[in-house]
Amino acid sequence: MQARQPRPIEFDLPATAGCPSAVGRAWARVPEPLPAGEQAAAADRARALLEREGAVLVAHYYVDAALQELAEQTGGCVGDSLEMARFGRDHPARTLIVAGVRFMGETAKILSPDKRILMPDLDATCSLDLGCPAADFAAWCDAQPDRTVVVYANTSAAVKARADWVVTSSIALDVIAELHARGEKILWAPDRHLGDYVQRQTGADMRLWQGSCVVHDEFKGTELELMRAEHPRAKVLAHPESPAAVLAQADVVGSTTQLIDAARKLDTQILIVATDQGILHKMRAQAPGKTFLAAPTAGDSATCKSCAHCPWMAMNALSNLADALEGGRNEIRLDTELGLRAKAPIDRMLDFAERRKRRVQASGDLAGDTALFARVGPA
Ligand code: SF4
Repeated sequence: MQARQPRPIEFDLPATAGCPSAVGRAWARVPEPLPAGEQAAAADRARALLEREGAVLVAHYYVDAALQELAEQTGGCVGDSLEMARFGRDHPARTLIVAGVRFMGETAKILSPDKRILMPDLDATCSLDLGCPAADFAAWCDAQPDRTVVVYANTSAAVKARADWVVTSSIALDVIAELHARGEKILWAPDRHLGDYVQRQTGADMRLWQGSCVVHDEFKGTELELMRAEHPRAKVLAHPESPAAVLAQADVVGSTTQLIDAARKLDTQILIVATDQGILHKMRAQAPGKTFLAAPTAGDSATCKSCAHCPWMAMNALSNLADALEGGRNEIRLDTELGLRAKAPIDRMLDFAERRKRRVQASGDLAGDTALFARVGPA
């Protein structure tokens, strides 16, 4: 497989006890795109290897469209991280190949320790995970022992193992609202924008770790105002990892799945989307005929108006997926005891999601199922 030169990336490394915040440095290695004429053969090779290995492909909405299509054509799953976790756990295949970033592969292993979990590239990481080192995080928690520890799914297994709850963006509001109603005070990590959004929506007492996503942190409130002025009928869909100035202008704030639902259901022709551009493949498929505009990540003087694509999600390709399957390479391995500790807060989230689903089904309140439109409006 050909790979471009590794691309350098800077991310926020938040302040911890006694140390100032800093700029962290990482890199991403993105495979060369295949020539158009080789795409079908690469997909055929990957399909044959999935079958040979009895493997199922679990892919995130942000990965390359060819991988999303392969997952759907072969009985796999394309979803947000909560759906990926549930699908991988419940599917009978003994091998899962996870197209996404490292914490997603780790989550699959935590939930299915007896399965073989492969990834196209084990170095595909996430700035939220990198910006929340386990030892610093544990010290932060230890210094505030009266608080319930809630971490976002975008964290390492070691950080999850220190938490009381793991949440994804699709369920964070509901979990925090319930903890707040019980009178619990929260420590939240690592995404500061999602934490701030949840805090404002629920009124919960939350202290926030100051991590951020290198993709969503770049969306610009002022430029979004200009784009809305150019397209006055457009509605704005935003992921809550975006800054408050962007969320304040959003008609819908939600997880990737909730935003795709909104793209289909909203009665509008033009949608401005503030999340990774990988999601546009699914939105266009679900809402053909609508126009999708990527929310701006740069000012008027920049040559690129929106570069919102995760450099680590871009490390997943047909070629390295097939290579991993062929050689049984890039297997996720986790310490068993650590995996068990990390599993408890994930199970708590999955049980919560299951209870909520049963409650909604029993009440017939389907509008409350995703709680999507309850959250429509300025954040
Ligand atoms: S898009 Fe952001 S949150 Fe998602 S994997 Fe990439 S860096 Fe992490």
